[in-house]
Amino acid sequence: MATIYYDADSDPDLIKGKKVAVIGYGSQGHAHALNLKESGVDVVVGLREGSSSRAEAESAGLTVLTPDAAAEWADTIMMLVPDQVMGVIYSESVEPYLDSGDTLLFAHGFNIHFGEIVPPEDVDVAMIAPKGPGHLVRRTYTEGSGVPCLLAVHQDASGNARALALSYASGIGGGRAGVLETTFKEETETDLFGEQVILCGGISELIKASFETLVEAGYQPESAYFETLHELKLIVDLLYEGGLSWMRYSVSDTAEYGDYTRGSRIITDETRAAMKNALADIQSGAFANEWMAQAREGAPFLYEQRAANRAHQIEDVGRELRKMMPFMEPKTAP
Ligand code: NAD
Ligand code: MG
Repeated sequence: MATIYYDADSDPDLIKGKKVAVIGYGSQGHAHALNLKESGVDVVVGLREGSSSRAEAESAGLTVLTPDAAAEWADTIMMLVPDQVMGVIYSESVEPYLDSGDTLLFAHGFNIHFGEIVPPEDVDVAMIAPKGPGHLVRRTYTEGSGVPCLLAVHQDASGNARALALSYASGIGGGRAGVLETTFKEETETDLFGEQVILCGGISELIKASFETLVEAGYQPESAYFETLHELKLIVDLLYEGGLSWMRYSVSDTAEYGDYTRGSRIITDETRAAMKNALADIQSGAFANEWMAQAREGAPFLYEQRAANRAHQIEDVGRELRKMMPFMEPKTAP
């Protein structure tokens, strides 16, 4: 079983004794910076000159510096910029200002695990990774609770890396929910596997394939949309609240019988072998090398696929149908 820490295991004063720079003010950055500030931590935000997030951070009462100035001022630096540009930002704006005894923190292990960032040996390196998007990290904190976090220590030069990371986790509210100990390797590899095989890649392909199957068979695209995309939320909410058993208890016996008899004909041995291949590419570093090479060229495949997928029929049908449901506050990707 995993080791789980709570606020009672953590010393909240450790992080209050530090000068913390949060680099980036996106999904995670805004939540970490605001939660730390309200927990009494001395925090600044590091953003590029001309960043569109600057005004937002300043109007929230935060001090904003350039990434260089923030890293120079701080002794504890949390890297919350997109993973594919983090290595460059680190070498240009953070590494030159690292002093012996400083602490580098991450919310995902990618850059450390795959060696894109190799910090000096006299610096502590740890991870506090909330298991939820930034807006939830922020909202739960303001409500007096928090989002569970993963904690990992990559390098413990001072002997205090774990205690400081735990104190940081308490500062963002994670200690109220629980902080699970893991490793950079485990967090990185399982995170990539999850997003590729189920959360993003697997589910998107299942949605498109099932929608296309119904439409090609002559059913109305609107009916296909409701059955293959819209109703997923109902099922995911049940899974989230009580696992597979609660979902199966809540759906009809007919649905449950269809689940047991047909599900394994859809996710076949071939699919399971493909999952193992995806995992092998993650473990060998092949996926990371491929993605970093793409990112260096400006990620052309990503943008091409984004455009092509936005033009899929299911997106047009969904946009119109969601207008019938203003209660769900429909969103459009910018
Ligand atoms: P994001 O894309 O929401 O925000 C990144 C921020 O970085 C931007 O808002 C901007 O302020 C800044 N930025 C972007 N490009 C930059 C550049 N070239 N130079 C300088 N600054 C730049 O990112 P995020 O989702 O908050 O992810 C940050 C880290 O948190 C990543 O390591 C990610 O893996 C991790 N993480 C994210 C989530 C999540 O749900 N979003 C959950 C757990 C961990
Ligand atoms: Mg993740």
